[in-house]
Amino acid sequence: MSSTKSLLIIAAAFFAAGVAFAANETAKVAGCCAKAQASGKACGHACCVENAKKGDNCTKCGGAGKIEKKADAKK
Ligand SMILES: [Zn+2]
Ligand SMILES: [Zn+2]
Repeated sequence: MSSTKSLLIIAAAFFAAGVAFAANETAKVAGCCAKAQASGKACGHACCVENAKKGDNCTKCGGAGKIEKKADAKK
């Protein structure tokens, strides 16, 4: 009985982790771009600039998915 219950808990945990991973996978800013953003600049890497034009995070530098745009970035 108890082993069945713990298996269910493990299965639920794996499912939750999978959902969280899938959500993170859609948007991940590359380390160099995150540093540049933190100092209020755009990343100067040619590969990052090219990907930014397409609205993507640079996969070469460890990023993934689409760049999240802040609605009130420019006023
Ligand atoms: Zn970059
Ligand atoms: Zn890059």
